[in-house]
Amino acid sequence: MKNPPEYITSPSNPLIKLLKSLERKKERAETGLFLAEGARIVAEGLARGWHAETVVIAADMADRAAIASIAASAEAAGARVVLVPERLMSKITQKDNAQSVVAAFRQRHLSLADLPAPASGGLYIALFEVRDPGNLGTILRTADCAGLSGVILLGTTCDPYSFEAVRASMGSLFDMPFAASGFCDFDTWRKAAGLSLTAASVNGTVRHDGADLNKGAVILMGNEQAGLPDWIEDACDTLALIPMRGGADSLNLAQASAVMIYEAWRQRGYA
Ligand code: SAM
Repeated sequence: MKNPPEYITSPSNPLIKLLKSLERKKERAETGLFLAEGARIVAEGLARGWHAETVVIAADMADRAAIASIAASAEAAGARVVLVPERLMSKITQKDNAQSVVAAFRQRHLSLADLPAPASGGLYIALFEVRDPGNLGTILRTADCAGLSGVILLGTTCDPYSFEAVRASMGSLFDMPFAASGFCDFDTWRKAAGLSLTAASVNGTVRHDGADLNKGAVILMGNEQAGLPDWIEDACDTLALIPMRGGADSLNLAQASAVMIYEAWRQRGYA
């Protein structure tokens, strides 16, 4: 860290205002930045080569070895590193128990062509018009845990770089490639790559563990309220139903995604 380190104490400092504003989609879109919170998650982003513009550290934690190491690697990668009192950390993240490190990272926007090439046996999950950032972050985390090749965001979705999505992903956002696409381009891409398309649907005709997910495949999940439109279900090779026997009409999207992802991985022998 610079000697002496840059130390900001005023909530009206322009940098603090900018970081706080990243809670809003408009400011994230205009600046191309997003906020990640927590020493482990910020360290993960830096280690994965994501560009941190600014790293903010709670002043009373700055001497800890793990935090000093984050500051050093952030500075080496060109980030501005500043210290603030704890009350400003809470202000930036709008949480009472603020983390000791937060960072503003530059967003990445991938297209289908940027995803890891669909090798035979590749497994992807596509989310049609996902609206809840908590669901999106949780699915990124599950996809990461199961080693998927990528996540595809279809149509108009919530922002993967919102505070809530980043928090729910617990750092998997840095590891799991995700790309946005319209359905038609996506369908052309997956056919050209020889990937089958299995939708998880409450209209499923095959039980989820009877769908063949053992070869190159995309699992398609529907929107939280409306599920999948008929024309998209018609374009799928298989409609898979996860059995239910209570009164609820469906599972939560992130939970249904986890069941499908882990079923595919089970079929592949957890290799
Ligand atoms: N009312 C919506 C519908 O008719 O599809 C429910 C949407 S549900 C909350 C969100 C998504 O989770 C669904 O589109 C589907 O992809 C998946 N899902 C939820 N429960 C499921 C089940 N029992 N079987 C298969 N997929 C399910």
